[in-house]
Amino acid sequence: MATPRIEIDLAKIAHNAKNLKRLYGSKGIDIIGVTKGVCGDPDIADTLVKSGISVLADSRISNIKRMREAGIEAEFLMLRTPIPSQAESVVKYADISLNSEVSVVKSLSKFAVEYDTTHKIILMVELGDLGVGLMPSDLEGMVEEVIDLEGIELAGIGTNLACQGGIKPDEEKMGYLSSLAREVEEKFEVTLEFVSGGNSANYTWFTSTEDVGRINNLRLGESIYMGCETLYRTPIPGLFADAFTLVAEVIESKIKPSVPYGGVCQDVSGHIHTFQDRGPIRRALIGVGLQDVAVSGLTPKLDFDIIGMCSDYVIVDAKQTDLKAGDEVAFSLNYGGLLSCMTSPYVMKRYR
Ligand SMILES: *Cc1c(COP(=O)(O)O)cnc(C)c1O
Repeated sequence: MATPRIEIDLAKIAHNAKNLKRLYGSKGIDIIGVTKGVCGDPDIADTLVKSGISVLADSRISNIKRMREAGIEAEFLMLRTPIPSQAESVVKYADISLNSEVSVVKSLSKFAVEYDTTHKIILMVELGDLGVGLMPSDLEGMVEEVIDLEGIELAGIGTNLACQGGIKPDEEKMGYLSSLAREVEEKFEVTLEFVSGGNSANYTWFTSTEDVGRINNLRLGESIYMGCETLYRTPIPGLFADAFTLVAEVIESKIKPSVPYGGVCQDVSGHIHTFQDRGPIRRALIGVGLQDVAVSGLTPKLDFDIIGMCSDYVIVDAKQTDLKAGDEVAFSLNYGGLLSCMTSPYVMKRYR
Protein backbone atom coordinates (compact mmCIF):
# COMPACT_ATOMS: atom_id res chain seq x y z
CA MET A 1 0.00 0.00 0.00
CA ALA A 2 1.15 3.53 -0.80
CA THR A 3 3.28 5.42 1.71
CA PRO A 4 3.65 7.77 3.45
CA ARG A 5 0.11 7.33 4.76
CA ILE A 6 -1.68 8.24 7.94
CA GLU A 7 -3.92 5.49 9.29
CA ILE A 8 -6.96 6.93 11.02
CA ASP A 9 -8.90 4.73 13.40
CA LEU A 10 -12.38 6.25 13.36
CA ALA A 11 -13.67 3.80 16.01
CA LYS A 12 -11.02 5.00 18.47
CA ILE A 13 -11.86 8.64 17.73
CA ALA A 14 -15.55 7.86 18.29
CA HIS A 15 -14.71 6.12 21.57
CA ASN A 16 -12.73 9.14 22.80
CA ALA A 17 -15.40 11.62 21.70
CA LYS A 18 -18.24 9.69 23.37
CA ASN A 19 -16.30 9.22 26.59
CA LEU A 20 -15.30 12.89 26.79
CA LYS A 21 -18.87 13.94 26.09
CA ARG A 22 -20.11 11.68 28.88
CA LEU A 23 -17.37 12.73 31.31
CA TYR A 24 -17.86 16.48 30.85
CA GLY A 25 -21.62 16.03 30.60
CA SER A 26 -21.61 14.53 34.10
CA LYS A 27 -21.10 18.05 35.46
CA GLY A 28 -23.24 19.84 32.89
CA ILE A 29 -20.52 20.78 30.40
CA ASP A 30 -21.16 20.24 26.70
CA ILE A 31 -18.26 19.86 24.29
CA ILE A 32 -17.55 21.38 20.92
CA GLY A 33 -15.43 19.22 18.60
CA VAL A 34 -12.42 21.09 17.23
CA THR A 35 -11.43 19.95 13.75
CA LYS A 36 -8.50 22.25 12.95
CA GLY A 37 -5.96 19.58 13.94
CA VAL A 38 -7.38 17.25 11.31
CA CYS A 39 -7.85 19.90 8.62
CA GLY A 40 -11.65 19.66 8.75
CA ASP A 41 -11.50 16.05 7.55
CA PRO A 42 -15.12 15.14 6.67
CA ASP A 43 -14.86 11.47 7.75
CA ILE A 44 -13.56 12.51 11.15
CA ALA A 45 -16.14 15.32 11.42
CA ASP A 46 -18.88 12.81 10.62
CA THR A 47 -17.52 10.50 13.33
CA LEU A 48 -17.69 13.34 15.89
CA VAL A 49 -21.27 14.18 14.92
CA LYS A 50 -22.29 10.51 15.15
CA SER A 51 -20.69 10.42 18.61
CA GLY A 52 -23.14 13.07 19.78
CA ILE A 53 -21.18 16.28 19.18
CA SER A 54 -23.42 18.87 17.55
CA VAL A 55 -21.09 21.88 17.22
CA LEU A 56 -17.83 21.63 15.26
CA ALA A 57 -15.18 24.33 15.43
CA ASP A 58 -12.36 25.12 13.05
CA SER A 59 -9.96 28.00 12.63
CA ARG A 60 -9.96 27.97 8.82
CA ILE A 61 -12.88 28.98 6.61
CA SER A 62 -11.71 26.50 3.99
CA ASN A 63 -12.01 23.63 6.49
CA ILE A 64 -15.52 24.69 7.53
CA LYS A 65 -16.47 24.98 3.88
CA ARG A 66 -15.04 21.53 3.23
CA MET A 67 -17.15 19.99 6.00
CA ARG A 68 -20.31 21.83 4.93
CA GLU A 69 -19.85 20.80 1.34
CA ALA A 70 -19.41 17.19 2.45
CA GLY A 71 -22.88 17.42 4.02
CA ILE A 72 -21.79 17.27 7.67
CA GLU A 73 -24.83 18.24 9.73
CA ALA A 74 -23.58 20.35 12.59
CA GLU A 75 -23.45 23.92 13.75
CA PHE A 76 -20.09 25.41 12.74
CA LEU A 77 -18.03 27.70 14.90
CA MET A 78 -15.18 29.87 13.62
CA LEU A 79 -12.47 29.36 16.19
CA ARG A 80 -9.99 32.00 15.15
CA THR A 81 -11.46 35.44 15.81
CA PRO A 82 -12.34 36.52 12.28
CA ILE A 83 -9.69 38.00 10.04
CA PRO A 84 -11.45 41.32 9.32
CA SER A 85 -11.26 40.94 5.55
CA GLN A 86 -12.89 37.49 5.84
CA ALA A 87 -16.00 38.70 7.70
CA GLU A 88 -18.24 37.91 4.76
CA SER A 89 -17.05 34.29 4.50
CA VAL A 90 -17.37 33.87 8.26
CA VAL A 91 -21.05 34.82 8.04
CA LYS A 92 -21.51 32.71 4.94
CA TYR A 93 -19.95 29.51 6.26
CA ALA A 94 -19.97 29.67 10.08
CA ASP A 95 -23.00 29.88 12.37
CA ILE A 96 -21.01 31.13 15.35
CA SER A 97 -17.71 32.94 15.80
CA LEU A 98 -15.43 33.95 18.67
CA ASN A 99 -14.93 37.72 18.78
CA SER A 100 -13.08 40.47 20.56
CA GLU A 101 -13.33 43.55 18.30
CA VAL A 102 -16.42 45.75 18.00
CA SER A 103 -15.54 46.79 14.45
CA VAL A 104 -15.38 43.16 13.33
CA VAL A 105 -18.74 42.34 14.93
CA LYS A 106 -20.24 45.37 13.16
CA SER A 107 -18.91 44.02 9.91
CA LEU A 108 -20.36 40.56 10.69
CA SER A 109 -23.67 42.29 11.38
CA LYS A 110 -23.61 44.03 8.02
CA PHE A 111 -23.08 40.74 6.18
CA ALA A 112 -25.61 38.89 8.33
CA VAL A 113 -28.21 41.43 7.24
CA GLU A 114 -27.09 41.09 3.64
CA TYR A 115 -27.38 37.29 3.79
CA ASP A 116 -30.61 37.51 5.79
CA THR A 117 -29.26 35.34 8.57
CA THR A 118 -28.46 35.52 12.27
CA HIS A 119 -24.83 35.07 13.24
CA LYS A 120 -24.06 34.06 16.82
CA ILE A 121 -21.09 35.56 18.61
CA ILE A 122 -19.16 34.46 21.66
CA LEU A 123 -17.13 37.30 23.19
CA MET A 124 -13.66 36.18 24.21
CA VAL A 125 -12.30 37.50 27.48
CA GLU A 126 -8.61 37.82 28.32
CA LEU A 127 -7.83 36.03 31.58
CA GLY A 128 -4.06 36.20 31.61
CA ASP A 129 -2.78 33.97 28.80
CA LEU A 130 -2.39 37.11 26.65
CA GLY A 131 -3.69 35.61 23.45
CA VAL A 132 -7.09 36.48 22.10
CA GLY A 133 -9.68 38.37 24.15
CA LEU A 134 -10.79 41.72 25.46
CA MET A 135 -9.87 42.86 28.93
CA PRO A 136 -12.60 41.91 31.44
CA SER A 137 -13.14 45.56 32.33
CA ASP A 138 -14.17 46.21 28.72
CA LEU A 139 -16.68 43.35 28.53
CA GLU A 140 -19.81 45.24 29.55
CA GLY A 141 -18.94 48.10 27.24
CA MET A 142 -18.54 45.74 24.31
CA VAL A 143 -21.77 43.91 25.11
CA GLU A 144 -23.54 47.25 25.09
CA GLU A 145 -22.17 48.04 21.65
CA VAL A 146 -23.00 44.73 20.00
CA ILE A 147 -26.12 43.45 21.74
CA ASP A 148 -28.59 45.32 19.55
CA LEU A 149 -26.75 44.92 16.25
CA GLU A 150 -29.00 43.56 13.56
CA GLY A 151 -28.30 39.99 12.52
CA ILE A 152 -26.11 39.36 15.58
CA GLU A 153 -27.04 37.21 18.56
CA LEU A 154 -24.88 37.40 21.68
CA ALA A 155 -24.63 33.67 22.33
CA GLY A 156 -22.02 33.65 25.04
CA ILE A 157 -18.67 34.52 26.48
CA GLY A 158 -15.53 32.46 26.58
CA THR A 159 -11.85 32.37 27.28
CA ASN A 160 -8.79 30.56 26.00
CA LEU A 161 -5.92 29.67 28.33
CA ALA A 162 -2.83 27.45 28.18
CA CYS A 163 -2.27 28.59 24.62
CA GLN A 164 0.01 31.63 24.16
CA GLY A 165 1.24 32.18 27.67
CA GLY A 166 0.93 28.72 29.18
CA ILE A 167 -1.43 29.95 31.91
CA LYS A 168 -3.53 27.30 33.67
CA PRO A 169 -7.30 27.30 33.62
CA ASP A 170 -7.87 26.85 37.35
CA GLU A 171 -10.58 27.37 39.95
CA GLU A 172 -9.84 31.10 40.20
CA LYS A 173 -9.93 31.75 36.43
CA MET A 174 -13.05 29.66 35.88
CA GLY A 175 -14.76 31.23 38.89
CA TYR A 176 -14.00 34.65 37.45
CA LEU A 177 -15.40 33.73 34.01
CA SER A 178 -18.55 32.45 35.74
CA SER A 179 -18.95 35.70 37.63
CA LEU A 180 -18.52 37.70 34.40
CA ALA A 181 -21.20 35.55 32.77
CA ARG A 182 -23.59 36.18 35.65
CA GLU A 183 -22.93 39.92 35.54
CA VAL A 184 -23.66 40.09 31.81
CA GLU A 185 -26.80 37.98 32.21
CA GLU A 186 -28.13 40.16 35.03
CA LYS A 187 -27.21 43.52 33.60
CA PHE A 188 -28.49 42.82 30.07
CA GLU A 189 -31.27 40.40 31.01
CA VAL A 190 -30.07 37.68 28.66
CA THR A 191 -29.28 33.99 29.03
CA LEU A 192 -25.93 33.05 27.58
CA GLU A 193 -26.10 29.81 25.61
CA PHE A 194 -22.33 29.32 25.87
CA VAL A 195 -20.01 30.03 28.75
CA SER A 196 -17.01 28.44 27.13
CA GLY A 197 -14.22 27.87 29.62
CA GLY A 198 -11.45 26.69 27.34
CA ASN A 199 -9.90 23.68 25.69
CA SER A 200 -8.20 20.35 26.41
CA ALA A 201 -6.17 22.06 29.15
CA ASN A 202 -9.32 22.39 31.30
CA TYR A 203 -9.40 18.68 32.19
CA THR A 204 -7.46 18.97 35.45
CA TRP A 205 -9.64 21.85 36.66
CA PHE A 206 -12.74 19.91 35.62
CA THR A 207 -11.83 16.71 37.44
CA SER A 208 -10.86 18.52 40.63
CA THR A 209 -13.56 21.18 40.90
CA GLU A 210 -16.56 20.79 43.17
CA ASP A 211 -18.57 23.30 41.22
CA VAL A 212 -18.18 24.22 37.57
CA GLY A 213 -20.22 27.38 38.17
CA ARG A 214 -21.70 28.85 34.99
CA ILE A 215 -19.15 27.12 32.75
CA ASN A 216 -21.24 24.98 30.39
CA ASN A 217 -18.95 24.47 27.43
CA LEU A 218 -15.43 23.48 26.38
CA ARG A 219 -13.85 23.36 22.93
CA LEU A 220 -11.86 20.14 22.60
CA GLY A 221 -9.41 19.06 19.94
CA GLU A 222 -6.29 17.39 21.27
CA SER A 223 -8.10 15.40 24.00
CA ILE A 224 -10.32 13.78 21.40
CA TYR A 225 -7.54 12.88 18.98
CA MET A 226 -4.65 12.19 21.34
CA GLY A 227 -6.52 10.99 24.45
CA CYS A 228 -4.64 13.36 26.77
CA GLU A 229 -5.07 16.59 28.68
CA THR A 230 -2.70 19.37 27.72
CA LEU A 231 -1.31 20.94 30.90
CA TYR A 232 1.26 18.15 31.09
CA ARG A 233 0.03 15.87 28.27
CA THR A 234 -1.08 13.23 30.78
CA PRO A 235 -3.22 10.43 29.30
CA ILE A 236 -6.93 10.60 30.18
CA PRO A 237 -7.97 7.22 31.66
CA GLY A 238 -9.98 5.05 29.28
CA LEU A 239 -9.11 6.96 26.11
CA PHE A 240 -7.05 5.82 23.15
CA ALA A 241 -3.77 7.65 22.50
CA ASP A 242 -3.13 5.83 19.24
CA ALA A 243 -6.02 6.74 16.96
CA PHE A 244 -3.51 7.95 14.35
CA THR A 245 -0.40 6.24 12.98
CA LEU A 246 1.94 7.40 10.26
CA VAL A 247 3.35 4.64 8.10
CA ALA A 248 6.40 5.18 5.89
CA GLU A 249 8.71 2.92 3.99
CA VAL A 250 12.37 2.02 4.21
CA ILE A 251 14.19 3.27 1.11
CA GLU A 252 17.70 2.28 2.09
CA SER A 253 19.14 0.24 4.95
CA LYS A 254 22.90 -0.18 5.43
CA ILE A 255 25.47 -0.63 8.12
CA LYS A 256 27.39 2.67 8.04
CA PRO A 257 29.58 4.69 10.41
CA SER A 258 27.85 6.73 13.15
CA VAL A 259 29.97 9.81 12.30
CA PRO A 260 30.02 11.52 8.88
CA TYR A 261 33.52 11.62 7.41
CA GLY A 262 35.36 14.28 5.33
CA GLY A 263 35.70 18.06 5.61
CA VAL A 264 32.97 19.51 7.85
CA CYS A 265 30.52 22.17 6.59
CA GLN A 266 26.91 23.25 7.20
CA ASP A 267 24.15 20.71 6.74
CA VAL A 268 20.97 21.27 4.72
CA SER A 269 19.46 23.52 7.41
CA GLY A 270 22.60 25.54 8.02
CA HIS A 271 23.77 23.74 11.16
CA ILE A 272 27.20 22.37 11.89
CA HIS A 273 26.92 19.08 13.74
CA THR A 274 29.00 17.24 16.24
CA PHE A 275 28.57 13.48 16.47
CA GLN A 276 29.48 10.87 18.96
CA ASP A 277 31.35 7.90 17.53
CA ARG A 278 29.41 4.75 18.35
CA GLY A 279 31.07 2.64 15.66
CA PRO A 280 29.12 1.26 12.70
CA ILE A 281 25.32 1.29 13.10
CA ARG A 282 22.28 0.16 11.15
CA ARG A 283 21.15 3.31 9.37
CA ALA A 284 17.79 3.13 7.63
CA LEU A 285 16.46 5.92 5.42
CA ILE A 286 12.68 6.24 5.76
CA GLY A 287 10.67 7.81 2.96
CA VAL A 288 9.07 10.69 4.84
CA GLY A 289 10.83 14.02 5.31
CA LEU A 290 10.52 17.63 6.37
CA GLN A 291 8.65 18.53 3.22
CA ASP A 292 6.02 15.90 4.02
CA VAL A 293 5.46 16.35 7.76
CA ALA A 294 6.76 17.98 10.96
CA VAL A 295 9.34 15.30 11.73
CA SER A 296 9.72 16.54 15.32
CA GLY A 297 6.16 15.30 15.94
CA LEU A 298 6.99 11.67 15.05
CA THR A 299 8.10 8.88 17.37
CA PRO A 300 8.99 5.47 15.91
CA LYS A 301 6.74 2.76 17.37
CA LEU A 302 9.62 0.28 17.45
CA ASP A 303 12.86 0.88 19.33
CA PHE A 304 14.49 3.11 16.70
CA ASP A 305 16.12 6.52 17.19
CA ILE A 306 15.65 9.30 14.65
CA ILE A 307 19.25 10.42 14.04
CA GLY A 308 18.90 12.59 10.97
CA MET A 309 16.43 14.24 8.64
CA CYS A 310 16.20 16.28 5.48
CA SER A 311 13.43 17.39 3.17
CA ASP A 312 12.95 13.94 1.67
CA TYR A 313 13.65 11.34 4.36
CA VAL A 314 14.44 10.70 8.00
CA ILE A 315 17.28 8.47 9.07
CA VAL A 316 16.82 6.08 11.96
CA ASP A 317 19.26 4.01 13.92
CA ALA A 318 17.41 0.71 13.58
CA LYS A 319 19.50 -0.89 16.36
CA GLN A 320 18.75 -4.62 16.47
CA THR A 321 16.13 -4.63 13.70
CA ASP A 322 17.34 -5.73 10.30
CA LEU A 323 15.23 -3.48 8.08
CA LYS A 324 15.23 -3.87 4.31
CA ALA A 325 14.14 -1.57 1.52
CA GLY A 326 10.34 -1.81 1.21
CA ASP A 327 9.67 -2.59 4.88
CA GLU A 328 7.07 -0.39 6.52
CA VAL A 329 7.89 1.59 9.65
CA ALA A 330 5.15 3.00 11.90
CA PHE A 331 5.34 6.24 13.87
CA SER A 332 3.10 7.58 16.58
CA LEU A 333 2.27 11.26 16.36
CA ASN A 334 1.92 14.15 18.71
CA TYR A 335 -0.67 16.84 17.95
CA GLY A 336 1.76 18.89 15.85
CA GLY A 337 2.74 15.79 13.93
CA LEU A 338 -0.93 14.94 13.38
CA LEU A 339 -1.72 18.43 12.12
CA SER A 340 1.19 18.30 9.70
CA CYS A 341 0.15 14.87 8.34
CA MET A 342 -3.48 15.95 7.90
CA THR A 343 -2.55 19.14 6.06
CA SER A 344 0.16 17.55 3.92
CA PRO A 345 -0.70 16.86 0.29
CA TYR A 346 2.05 14.22 0.32
CA VAL A 347 0.53 12.03 3.01
CA MET A 348 -2.24 9.63 1.98
CA LYS A 349 -5.19 9.23 4.36
CA ARG A 350 -6.48 5.77 5.12
CA TYR A 351 -9.50 5.21 7.36
CA ARG A 352 -10.19 2.15 9.45
C1 LIG B 1 -7.34 25.14 18.98
C2 LIG B 1 -8.30 25.80 19.87
C3 LIG B 1 -9.04 25.04 20.79
C4 LIG B 1 -8.83 23.54 20.97
O1 LIG B 1 -7.67 23.31 21.70
P1 LIG B 1 -7.23 21.83 22.13
O2 LIG B 1 -6.07 22.06 23.02
O3 LIG B 1 -6.89 21.11 20.89
O4 LIG B 1 -8.38 21.23 22.83
C5 LIG B 1 -9.96 25.69 21.58
N1 LIG B 1 -10.17 27.02 21.46
C6 LIG B 1 -9.49 27.78 20.59
C7 LIG B 1 -9.76 29.24 20.51
C8 LIG B 1 -8.53 27.19 19.76
O5 LIG B 1 -7.85 27.95 18.90
